[in-house]
Amino acid sequence: MDAGPRRWLADTPGDIRIEGAAGGGLIVRADGLPTGRLASKAEAPGLAVQLARWFTEAGGISGGRGRMAALIARGVLPPADLAGDVRPAPAEAAPPPGLRAEGALVALAFGQMTAQVLEALAAPGLDLRLTPWRMVLLEGAQALPATPGTITDPADPVLKVVACTGAPGCPQALQPTRPLAQALAPLVPDGRILHVSGCAKGCAHPAAADLTLTATAAGFTLIRGGRAGDTAPVHAVPALPSLISGMP
Ligand code: SF4
Repeated sequence: MDAGPRRWLADTPGDIRIEGAAGGGLIVRADGLPTGRLASKAEAPGLAVQLARWFTEAGGISGGRGRMAALIARGVLPPADLAGDVRPAPAEAAPPPGLRAEGALVALAFGQMTAQVLEALAAPGLDLRLTPWRMVLLEGAQALPATPGTITDPADPVLKVVACTGAPGCPQALQPTRPLAQALAPLVPDGRILHVSGCAKGCAHPAAADLTLTATAAGFTLIRGGRAGDTAPVHAVPALPSLISGMP
């Protein structure tokens, strides 16, 4: 659901999307299509269910898994009455941490916080709103918290890296990820995102990233402008800092 006059969740994965329409009102849109079908609030849930039914009947699920955008990328398109012809509202980029009209937006390295950090953020008694951007909104706060373990500086280099749990937390991981991502963060060129993935699945960032390091048994593949599952030469960990800092 992203039903405002500007879309804040355009970069957030969602197979069936109920969104603001470019000219006002709502559309129901299959992820991967540029347009959706105009719908009233009353009609939108039913259309979303119809799209879900079409997705399963059209072969969108294989081995218990599947994504709408992948099905559409294969050229399998919903019927015109579900695809619609109305474009969504303009998209906004994810906001940086800092003070906003709604309160204080506080980032968390890798989207993770300890119970102590949560307790400290909750102590003032304000409502906490989780966001899809690895940040928490302290609703109505008029000052940024000075809580260790949070990020309030938009220039913090850790905001340029994304990493999954990695080893040893995930049994599928082939290498540790977050310590490497933390160490490489200051070397990532400004305006770029580095994704460090413990395996080819790419859980932390399913979309393409400027730079992706995917763990293998022998080191990490370095992928430019691709996804964790893409193929690329393997590099040993000690070679990575110079490779990352040398990126244009
Ligand atoms: S990308 Fe692989 S290693 Fe990382 S959390 Fe997902 S399954 Fe585990």
